[in-house]
Amino acid sequence: QQFITDQEHSTTDESLPPQQSKTSWKCDPYSSADEFYSVAKGLRASDSDSTETCVNALKGTNLTGRGGAGFPTGLKWEIVSKEAEPEKYVICNADESEPGTFKDREILHRVPHLVIEGMLLAAMTIGAESGIVYVRHEYGPETRILRSAIQKAYESGILGESARGPGQRFDLEIFVSPGGYILGEETALLEALEDKRGEPRNKPPYPGQHGLWGKPTLINNVETFALVPSIVHNGPEWWEEQGIHGFSGLKFMCVSGDVRSPGVFEVPMGTTFSEVIEMAGGVSDDKRVKAFLPGGASSLFLGPDKLDTPIDFDAVRKAGSMLGTGALMVFHEGRDLYSLATNLTQFFRNESCGKCVPCRIGSHQAVTLLESGGLREEDVEFLGELHETLQETSICGLGQVALAPVLSMLKNFPEEIPNDVI
Ligand code: NAD
Ligand code: SF4
Repeated sequence: QQFITDQEHSTTDESLPPQQSKTSWKCDPYSSADEFYSVAKGLRASDSDSTETCVNALKGTNLTGRGGAGFPTGLKWEIVSKEAEPEKYVICNADESEPGTFKDREILHRVPHLVIEGMLLAAMTIGAESGIVYVRHEYGPETRILRSAIQKAYESGILGESARGPGQRFDLEIFVSPGGYILGEETALLEALEDKRGEPRNKPPYPGQHGLWGKPTLINNVETFALVPSIVHNGPEWWEEQGIHGFSGLKFMCVSGDVRSPGVFEVPMGTTFSEVIEMAGGVSDDKRVKAFLPGGASSLFLGPDKLDTPIDFDAVRKAGSMLGTGALMVFHEGRDLYSLATNLTQFFRNESCGKCVPCRIGSHQAVTLLESGGLREEDVEFLGELHETLQETSICGLGQVALAPVLSMLKNFPEEIPNDVI
């Protein structure tokens, strides 16, 4: 199956060269372009079983998926490797669309070779001949950078005929997402690749068993693949040492909102949100934090009392939110949280694909109520019941979380409700 690769809708014509020398990122094991792909080449040349090597390394680190859900990566790779069907696929989900999330863009821009190498290691692990990078349609410069890196990898024999070993091919191509938030949901992505309407499928079965064209398909996020070469190279102990305060590993954080220098930061797991805000230059306008979203638009609002929460999936869950994509959005004292939360609900309403009636109608009802200007106690109760219905009846994450941010704002910041008569 050949995919159309020329439908880029770039926001800019700028075409920047890929990184050729060492980044300051700890997840980058290479000091120069000459060393690129050494991990995969080493594994290819050795007698060791690549499935065992990669699965053991990933399971040893407890690496969890960086697309937002945090499913154990080693387990996912193992599940797909055990599938008997010989036709399998590796897909990199680069359709990064969660509001506040822009780390994958930076990773594709600076270390495309690590993403390619992570996918190649995945192909060696599960036994796949084909891979696809499914990239967000606005990421024109990154798509060009990636395409150039893929071409170089073909020219040097990293990809192609004997990519996984003598006579064991692995081909990699790029598919530009037709566009739309829901098309980044992994099963909607599969539908789009199969040239169907991009709506989520019911899960289970998960793509690991029944994915592209009904075949076992390993889907991981850009950051997840980019972390794999250094983990396979350095091993679980190294990974553990990267964390601080008893946490292990690294995390890319996107910091935006009311900070002086928004950007992407690779931080040790265990770093606190306050520390990450300091890395981003501190809160802007010399104000204090009023609230923050730790993991993008799908996460729950937290107050300043939670700023010392360590960056870790479980720790953020215990604090009452989720780390999600690692998209920290900071809101200072001057911000109207009611408008912000209403805006997020409008976003989910607009992006709902409409397949599930409760998500389609419920998100619209919620927006109408929030836009009415003030909420009565029974309105807040109604929104809570609507959220429960959406959680139980929605087939994908969008409907399941659509009302969670606004409810967390109403619960944690009731003083923000306009014309509040509660
Ligand atoms: P999910 O929990 O359904 O699945 C997570 C991953 O684990 C999937 O790849 C799934 O196939 C796999 N999986 C789960 N259970 C499995 C099982 N029993 N066997 C085999 N595989 C299994 O979550 P999801 O709907 O894929 O993702 C939701 C998350 O996506 C949200 O938490 C949000 O943070 C994130 N998100 C990210 C973006 C972005 O731009 N990166 C955009 C929107 C949402
Ligand atoms: Fe579409 Fe919403 Fe159903 Fe997801 S929950 S499939 S976005 S209607």
